[in-house]
Amino acid sequence: MPAKKPFSILFVASECFPLIKTGGLADVVGALPLALEKTGLEVTVFLPGFPKVIAGLKNTRTYANLKSVAGQKGKIITGETATGVTVLALDAPHLFDFDGNPYLDANGQDRAGSGEKFAAFSKIAAEIARGEIGRKSFDVLHAHDWQAGLSAAYLRASGDTRVKTILTIHNLAFQGLFPKSLLHNLALPTDYYGPDGLEYFGQISFLKAGVAYSDHITTVSPTYALEIQSDEGGMGFGGMLRAKAGALSGILNGIDLDVWDPAHDPEIKQAFSAKSPDGKTANKRELQKFLKLRPEATGPLFTVISRLTTQKGLDLLANMTDYIVARGGQLALLGSGDSAIENAFIAAANKHPTEISVTIGYDEPFAHRLQAGADAIFIPSRFEPCGLTQLCAMRYGTVPVVGRVGGLNDTVIDASPMALASEVCTGVQFSPINGHMLYSAISRTFDLYATASIWKKMVSNCLGQDVGWDASAAEYRDLYASL
Ligand code: ADP
Repeated sequence: MPAKKPFSILFVASECFPLIKTGGLADVVGALPLALEKTGLEVTVFLPGFPKVIAGLKNTRTYANLKSVAGQKGKIITGETATGVTVLALDAPHLFDFDGNPYLDANGQDRAGSGEKFAAFSKIAAEIARGEIGRKSFDVLHAHDWQAGLSAAYLRASGDTRVKTILTIHNLAFQGLFPKSLLHNLALPTDYYGPDGLEYFGQISFLKAGVAYSDHITTVSPTYALEIQSDEGGMGFGGMLRAKAGALSGILNGIDLDVWDPAHDPEIKQAFSAKSPDGKTANKRELQKFLKLRPEATGPLFTVISRLTTQKGLDLLANMTDYIVARGGQLALLGSGDSAIENAFIAAANKHPTEISVTIGYDEPFAHRLQAGADAIFIPSRFEPCGLTQLCAMRYGTVPVVGRVGGLNDTVIDASPMALASEVCTGVQFSPINGHMLYSAISRTFDLYATASIWKKMVSNCLGQDVGWDASAAEYRDLYASL
């Protein structure tokens, strides 16, 4: 009997680590396909052909020539990432031949023309999935976030019901909103512009199109799947997502255990692992030396590796720096974002130069060194779909201090009296998300750190957590099969 053909899945996304990354979406799209392939599926990732994407691919060849992509010629290139993910890239220089942030211009404003560009990208995605472009069709089109949201609408409009569609919402705050005038460029049936389709308070939402026309919707943690069905957490989508509750589920993200491996990390000074955690101390000393922080500090060295935005609650943390220093703690921050938050941390570093270090920017290797050298990481998010930095932190024995929301609720075990007694805790959570509760979480963290045996156990619990993809990949595989 011939072997059964594996399910083939087409991921449609705007980012993929290590080709192009602005946040957690890229990490997921870079790592999940490899984990799914281990479960016996075939996964291909369709990406916009940004210069970095095309330059980063190996073994490239032309997959298809396109007569018209948004009015001009283009082609689809196939190749592989350095990590072995199979990629199709839409090589259409009139749409994607620019460097820098894919969505924001140099002034931090939304890039002009994004609606037309990602609509064209999504239309091509639907045609690839159906086999209209290229030689094969796919069983499932798995769209990620608003940039890919319209692909489900294009598939529905084609009348094809064979290809099943999934939309994963990585962050409901990014809704892909465009003026209604874009409609005539989309080449979709006019009745798709309505409350059950693309229409969103008089505008068009690409994310809403994905919600409306996909067979199933996932988001990246079970708690966030519930939060987005509420009026408060739903950011305008709550009612629609409640109505879709039967086709909505939360599957936790993991991290790539090869990219994040303290036992074999070329970026860090001293290797360590759950079995031999002591190497962490050498990494802390190295980090203090590099950042010119006082090595005699008695408290924990905290880190922040993040977009500096109010979503991440870092405006609240900026008010706590004096308190952290007063208790003998230190802070090493890496990130960029809102200038008010950047400036508040820069002022704190100027005030306490031997205790607080602030690096404004994006630096992947430095993020590894911070995770390896810090004792604890702050993630005081107001909402957090899943969060990856707490997973990286635990893998590196760095204790997460987090808001009890979304995926932070699902992945961190608070050091409550019961969890301490049963020795299972991995971090500190606080709720509701406000300055007062953050303050008490920081105070609690100092107290835990002061008892060496407790802290050592928490670090060892973190190092022992399974933060990889295997369990979640199996959940996605079962979901594809159920469709
Ligand atoms: P986001 O909401 O930004 O996607 P996540 O926690 O899901 O947040 O993922 C953020 C990813 O980006 C993590 O891999 C984190 O290490 C990384 N990251 C964030 N800011 C920086 C930075 N300034 N430098 C290096 N890596 C960063």
